[in-house]
Amino acid sequence: MPTKKPPVKPGRSEALSAKAAAKPVAKLVAKRTKQPKPLPPDEVFEVFRRFEAIEPEPKGELEHVNPFTLLVAVVLSAQATDAGVNKATRALFKIADTPEKMVALGEDKIRDYVKTIGLYRTKAKNVFLLSQQLIAEHSSDVPRDRDALEKLPGVGRKTANVVLNMAFGEHTIAVDTHLFRVSNRVPLAPGKTPLAVELGLLKIVPPRFGQHAHHWLILHGRYICKARKPECWRCPINDLCRFEPKTKGP
Ligand code: SF4
Repeated sequence: MPTKKPPVKPGRSEALSAKAAAKPVAKLVAKRTKQPKPLPPDEVFEVFRRFEAIEPEPKGELEHVNPFTLLVAVVLSAQATDAGVNKATRALFKIADTPEKMVALGEDKIRDYVKTIGLYRTKAKNVFLLSQQLIAEHSSDVPRDRDALEKLPGVGRKTANVVLNMAFGEHTIAVDTHLFRVSNRVPLAPGKTPLAVELGLLKIVPPRFGQHAHHWLILHGRYICKARKPECWRCPINDLCRFEPKTKGP
């Protein structure tokens, strides 16, 4: 039976040369992965000042007529485009703009209205169940309370943040894929998770801009600081942003 070879321990000189060879590689990796430092407070202020000057009252793009339809639209928008959701909800909200009307419509019919949206079966069920829960536990009102919102079917932290911000004017930050990218690229509040970025932004966004900060960042990411090719050449915060390499033209 062949005997198993014991692992060969490198001699001192071999170990030293391996260490020496690894050094430049380690340096290179460190250089490549080096993140620029987040912008200092005065530059953060300037970023939002410019966003405000361009669009003083930014609006979300999900169509709704009251806090309830806003909540439903946001629940339907997970992993779907706002335009796709609006297309489906225009007809739905004409006949069901309150929890009672939504429950009366029933899960099957809700499903018919939203079947062009991804994950529509689960979403239709959640819309039906959350409408029932609003009637039973909140007198048919959308609660202005994060914990209560997050207890509703299909409602997570991001949805709660959108509703608290848009329906109640609270200074929350709903981190979607666009906002996450912008915050890490500039960087404003870099983070590995949406929650880390949200909590980081809440610390650095000046109160004056708290109401609209998340809309400005989402719209900036959606239309200018795009995922594949950011349009740096027409970016209003190009001189402040530390992302490299910047694009020079279309
Ligand atoms: S300069 Fe480019 S990378 Fe930086 S925020 Fe603007 S579009 Fe994004």
